[in-house]
Amino acid sequence: MSDMATGIRALVGEIRAIYGDGPVPLHRPVFDGHERRYLIECIDSNFVSSVGAKVTEFEARVAAFTGARHAVATVNGTAALHVALELAGVGPDDEVVTQALTFIATCNAIRYAGAWPVFVDVDRDTLGLSPQALRAFLERHVEVRDGRPYNRASGRRLAACVPMHTFGHPCRIAEIVAVCDEFGIPVVEDAAESLGSTAGGRHTGTFGRLGTSSFNGNKIITTGGGGMILTDDEALARRAKHLTTTAKIPHPYEFVHDEVGYNYRLPNLNAALGCAQMERLPEMLEVKAGIAARYAAVLAEIGWDYIPAPAGTVSNHWLNAVRLASPAEREAFLRETNAQGVMTRPIWRLMNRLPMYADCQHDGLANAIWLEERVVNLPSSVPDGALAPWAG
Ligand SMILES: *Cc1c(COP(=O)(O)O)cnc(C)c1O
Repeated sequence: MSDMATGIRALVGEIRAIYGDGPVPLHRPVFDGHERRYLIECIDSNFVSSVGAKVTEFEARVAAFTGARHAVATVNGTAALHVALELAGVGPDDEVVTQALTFIATCNAIRYAGAWPVFVDVDRDTLGLSPQALRAFLERHVEVRDGRPYNRASGRRLAACVPMHTFGHPCRIAEIVAVCDEFGIPVVEDAAESLGSTAGGRHTGTFGRLGTSSFNGNKIITTGGGGMILTDDEALARRAKHLTTTAKIPHPYEFVHDEVGYNYRLPNLNAALGCAQMERLPEMLEVKAGIAARYAAVLAEIGWDYIPAPAGTVSNHWLNAVRLASPAEREAFLRETNAQGVMTRPIWRLMNRLPMYADCQHDGLANAIWLEERVVNLPSSVPDGALAPWAG
């Protein structure tokens, strides 16, 4: 393991050069812009809660940035995904095709909609859903009845497909949408990690019928907690707003609701934070691209596999990742770096290994298992002082 020790010394040296001495977290937010000013505006206006101009402004900013025609803010990314799935037509006892290599929220949202995840493999380079594996699974299992796709193995309808853009790296989303179109399956993109990431010049979260984003405290920008539903479909956007705001029929004083809606509104205070964060997102993306380049360079010197942005894409480099040679090396790496105060962490335990999803159908997941055993995340925050003082 002396190679391991040498590698860790070089890598931790670079991490210390970027982030300084002391404990280095995996990812922390930076508030170097108008956050305080906009929060005070909310308080002074008395609009701190579920109604307010900052929510509308935040939605407009995210829509403009991503190129989505409509953006509807929600209380968190999981809620956004839950409602997006319902809007795509997912209901009780349906099935949703997704990846086992993801954060738990993807699968939980599918269950909140009453449906069951089925897992297909990922690509080794993108870490996202593999269009080949998807096609193989659908060709093997789908039977079309009354123009709708059913899973022959379970008898359930395949109501949606949820690809996820892992750590900000875009998956092969255009190909995935093309495969799903052939089978009549709507795509809902879990773009929680990929604000600022594009594939072929188009923003992630805008390829599917709906896409969702997250503004949790560990994401590239944060509203404390928050999420967004993206869509180009005006009717879906209107339904998204309605469902996430208790399905209240607009009226100056009457309280009438026309279906079981959700209180998934993003408070105005959180949206205020989001407006300020959006103003600095382009600079943050530049800083993060610089950090990614430094990791790529030092890991190339060490001889370890940095996981670069897939060809033809621009990644937001939310979390940088390295692929170690074996599970044993991964363990040694995690133990030693964390002992030195540098937070690193393994990729998620595969969803089908968790008790809630252990019985879900899957295709063998060879690449997901290979990655699960080897991939580790590196500290990836925007460092203190990296953003220029904000003149705005
Ligand atoms: C962060 C995240 C979400 C949403 O998380 P919230 O904490 O509810 O905002 C969903 N999917 C993935 C893959 C995520 O990383």
